[in-house]
Amino acid sequence: MKLLVTGGAGYIGSHVTDLLVARGDEVVVCDNLVNGHRAAVHPEARFVHGDLLQADTLRTLFDGQRYDGILHFAAYTLVNESMERPWRYLRDNVLAGGNLLQAAAEQEVPRFILSSTANLYEEPQRLPIGEDEPVQPGSPYGEGKHMIERMLGWMNRLQGMAGCSLRYFNAAGAHPEGHIGEDHRPETHLIPLVLQVALGQREAITVFGDDYPTPDGSCIRDYIHVMDLAAAHILALDALAEGELRACNLGSGHGYSVLDVLECAREVTGHPIPARIGPRRAGDPAVLVADNDALGRWLGWSPQHTTLQPIIASAWNWHRRHPQGYPE
Ligand code: UDP
Repeated sequence: MKLLVTGGAGYIGSHVTDLLVARGDEVVVCDNLVNGHRAAVHPEARFVHGDLLQADTLRTLFDGQRYDGILHFAAYTLVNESMERPWRYLRDNVLAGGNLLQAAAEQEVPRFILSSTANLYEEPQRLPIGEDEPVQPGSPYGEGKHMIERMLGWMNRLQGMAGCSLRYFNAAGAHPEGHIGEDHRPETHLIPLVLQVALGQREAITVFGDDYPTPDGSCIRDYIHVMDLAAAHILALDALAEGELRACNLGSGHGYSVLDVLECAREVTGHPIPARIGPRRAGDPAVLVADNDALGRWLGWSPQHTTLQPIIASAWNWHRRHPQGYPE
């Protein structure tokens, strides 16, 4: 297949690109490198350095090209930042998604996989969270993703474009070979921050709240290995029937607390990883865990990694080999 991967220099996009190239697909990666890293892109993918907000990028990507599918990862992705800079999310992310969908519709691209988020479920009524949970975005980030999901819904209805939104829980870990991994600047995610403490790059980790209604008082999240997450994209791409539209929750189905993550990271790294308790972080729900049954039934998919240990061990492998992340 010939596929366009936007945001293919980012954390999740680069892992999906790696799997697509490995199985022999022809991949074009587009990334503006604001958050992505050129070195994360598989050398056999064609790389277009461009921004989906620019008409010339869209021309470069689409003129004379025929894609069998698009996987859209390119976006600003930080919930917290979106509360402070909402227009990056409500305007830039949404416009980029709209530009891409319009070009895809004009070229009659048959399938579109959208990188979406569990931030659509601010206060889940039931746990684990199923796809029947009412959508209530928890931030401008989630709201922007929901708008793009809805645009995809219209392209499906008006044009029969097959679409699948994958609503991610907490992606973590790295490729087992250790050549690609997570590198955000600045880093805000729990597992890479904890591993930076183990590397001696930070003194301690702050636990954002220990007074949540959970067994140990810290927040519970569903950490899914990035390779399991990437594998689900490829199965979804292949399984999407003509004219089909789906939205699926994509998590491991298992919840771990912040203190569980710390404990596991201490075991994996052999470092004491000092922690202090800080105040809650605004907008953090106590528990987010996916019900991934629907995805499993559809794709015959189940996560290969169901505990924290292999997730943190693969992340540690990446961070130890690349203590400064990707070269810039
Ligand atoms: N967290 C924390 N300290 C940190 C970073 C994160 O206690 O320095 C917590 C955060 O409150 C959340 C969990 O770790 O409960 C995962 O946060 P992350 O930012 O990795 O992902 P999110 O759940 O926000 O997508």
